[in-house]
Amino acid sequence: MFERIIGQDLAKRLLEGSIKANKLPSALLFHGPAGVGKRTFALTVAKTVNCTKVEHGYCGECSSCKGVDNLTHPDLRLVFPVRNAGSLEGLPTPELYDKQGTITINMVRILRKEASLKPFQKGKRIFLMLNADRMNQEASNAFLKLLEEPPSDTLVILTTERPNSLFPTIRSRCQKVMFTRLRAEDIENALVEKMGAERNRAHLVASLSGGSLGWAQKMLRDYADEHRLRMFDFVLESAPQDDLAVLDFSREMVDENLVYETLEILQSMYKDLLATKMGAQKTLINIDQQKPLEKGAARMTCDEICDIIYGIEDAFADLNRNVSPRLVLFNLLSRVHEKSLTRV
Ligand SMILES: [Zn+2]
Repeated sequence: MFERIIGQDLAKRLLEGSIKANKLPSALLFHGPAGVGKRTFALTVAKTVNCTKVEHGYCGECSSCKGVDNLTHPDLRLVFPVRNAGSLEGLPTPELYDKQGTITINMVRILRKEASLKPFQKGKRIFLMLNADRMNQEASNAFLKLLEEPPSDTLVILTTERPNSLFPTIRSRCQKVMFTRLRAEDIENALVEKMGAERNRAHLVASLSGGSLGWAQKMLRDYADEHRLRMFDFVLESAPQDDLAVLDFSREMVDENLVYETLEILQSMYKDLLATKMGAQKTLINIDQQKPLEKGAARMTCDEICDIIYGIEDAFADLNRNVSPRLVLFNLLSRVHEKSLTRV
């Protein structure tokens, strides 16, 4: 029933068991690190519960299965954090998803109202709440009421990376299902088999991924690794560059349409510099760059590193305000250049 899901044997065993015995609890809490498949797993459970063709499994082809895949199933409700959610009426649409946002009482009220109605189709109504720890206090209180009087034809699935940030009363009313980091080998194979990645590159990305398939997929999709290596060289290793070199580099990034990637790589680099400074090398994103990071961290103070991290956030904001990308990059890289080279 969960053959297509990578890893997570514990979760598979637990849920297969309760589905086959028709003893699926009405509320499940999927907890574990980011990017290890909690959401995919939840949607698979939704298909399994509502498939019109296969019992204790799913066909992937009936209108119910397809509805879950396209998130258009009339009995599937998806709730997730949104930034500036105050002004939102109704449930949020996927493009508003923001992990750092808030799940509001308004969203929970909509769920509670729907829970009082019969499902539209045969099967269960499914409420899937992503990053449930982003419920504020009001929302949590309202949600608790929903869990206290669960309608029999409703299945609630919560996902979280921070189970301890949820109300203990919410945690205790859910069947907890633990998700773990994936093995690098499993990630490597998934990248090759599902994303058509080249074996060597898949191997590198998988070993950088810290057990998160989501991160590895993003890495494979979004970053040209040569670009990342070049950025590390440019910022942390190269001989002193003058303003002209910075200007040339900025222009090149704009011409190659790599402005956002450049900012994201810089962001990961400076977070890593800060982690290195604090002795938290275990959390490095760019674990293959430990040496240059150590050298760089030795030259900068925490304040200087933070200053650049804020500068990167400002740069993202400027891009969104349509400031010229070349200007944004040049200003940021000039600051980077100044800070990272002052002590050479
Ligand atoms: Zn089906």
